[in-house]
Amino acid sequence: MSDQVIRFDLPQTEIPHQWYNVQADLPRPLPPVLHPGTHQPVGPDDLAPLFPMALIMQEVSQEPAIDIPEEVREIYKLWRPTPLLRARRLEKALDTPAHIYYKYEGVSPSGSHKLNTATAQAYYNKKEGVRGLTTETGAGQWGTALSQACNFFDMDCIVYMVKISYQQKPYRRAIMQTFGASVTASPSETTEAGRSILRKHPESTGSLGIAISEAVEVAATSQGRYKYALGSVLNHVLLHQTVIGQECLKQMEMAGEYPDVVIGPTGGGSNFAGIALPFLRENLRSGKKTRLLGIEPAACPSLTRGKYAYDFGDTMGMTPLVKMYTLGHDFVPPPLHAGGLRYHGMGSIVCEMYDQGLMEAIAIQQLETFSAALTFARAEGIVPAPEAAHGIAGAIREAMAAKDAGEKRVILFNLCGHGHFDMSAYDAYLGDQLSDYDFPQAEIDAAMATLPQL
Ligand SMILES: *Cc1c(COP(=O)(O)O)cnc(C)c1O
Repeated sequence: MSDQVIRFDLPQTEIPHQWYNVQADLPRPLPPVLHPGTHQPVGPDDLAPLFPMALIMQEVSQEPAIDIPEEVREIYKLWRPTPLLRARRLEKALDTPAHIYYKYEGVSPSGSHKLNTATAQAYYNKKEGVRGLTTETGAGQWGTALSQACNFFDMDCIVYMVKISYQQKPYRRAIMQTFGASVTASPSETTEAGRSILRKHPESTGSLGIAISEAVEVAATSQGRYKYALGSVLNHVLLHQTVIGQECLKQMEMAGEYPDVVIGPTGGGSNFAGIALPFLRENLRSGKKTRLLGIEPAACPSLTRGKYAYDFGDTMGMTPLVKMYTLGHDFVPPPLHAGGLRYHGMGSIVCEMYDQGLMEAIAIQQLETFSAALTFARAEGIVPAPEAAHGIAGAIREAMAAKDAGEKRVILFNLCGHGHFDMSAYDAYLGDQLSDYDFPQAEIDAAMATLPQL
């Protein structure tokens, strides 16, 4: 036992040189994104006020591989390649014959996988002469990553932070300000969208949808000086995250194993896609049969209980229409302690994978998730982000199923972030203040009734 290897590190020369674009391999192409007014497919010009052309082209590219610019790889070297670990102590605690591996993205300076795309997005905007980026943040992980990325490229970063988080998470705000971002509690008086909400609801504590509307408005009315950045959902975001799974393929080879199942939590789908897509490529091209399993919170079950339909990306109905598994754009998830998973929809690539039977999804409740987080923390010494803990809960279920079946099963999951800024959620769990939440079907049906009619 004593000389068993548990950590698989790649040299920096093994940071991938290309991102993997699954659009080249999907058996059926992605459905088009539609203009909210005309219901016709949107073209590059429609998106140009918000995104740089390089990212718009990546959004629709059918090339199987897209070069990672050397400037971006240079910054990736600050934390990439990230380690792959074999969770031997967790295996022992569970007394399972399964072999459990995890890819640890929490070693990035921002503490999660989000810096992989934030760096790339800041780079392309800088190259096209954009002075700064606007964005929204809820839990704060995305705002933190984007403020660091903008700082790397000497750009402004304007963050609209959901007011309730702004008040409850002062350290999240402070870390963004440390990197030079300007952080505004949303809804705010600085935009027409914010003022109109405040006129109607002066006491509003905000929502992700409102914050998106404010950030989009600032970019759209800036005459090109500012553009908007999104931390998940979009194809180019999922593309940038494929460095994760590409590294895993090499690291699993170092470990001398190949995963039977690859697992990640699914909010907008970016960390799951990041680890899963390179394995999907092996399934599609080389006849491998790895199961790909997304874990969503039972309190916001877009894949497992939503409908595959065209819907808006934001609450106010300002964005283009995207076909996705959705709970309805004005669905309000209960105050769940995994802020990063409270999105009503899901990235288009993940939705097509699910619809085409290329992946599976399950929903897990909050108490099981936090219990899994504690089991993992006590065995492996890392406090996971509450979002990441959903993936851990899924991995533990797989490990227990392997034990019941008396079989060795190789499990790989994405530990996409640490929970050091989320200790108030742990405090609530340890103080018995959290509960499970079963969404009444009637509430989902009501939210569905507001889907746009095409
Ligand atoms: C943002 C975030 C998520 C949810 O977003 P995805 O795009 O689904 O990955 C999950 N985990 C962590 C740690 C996050 O920061």
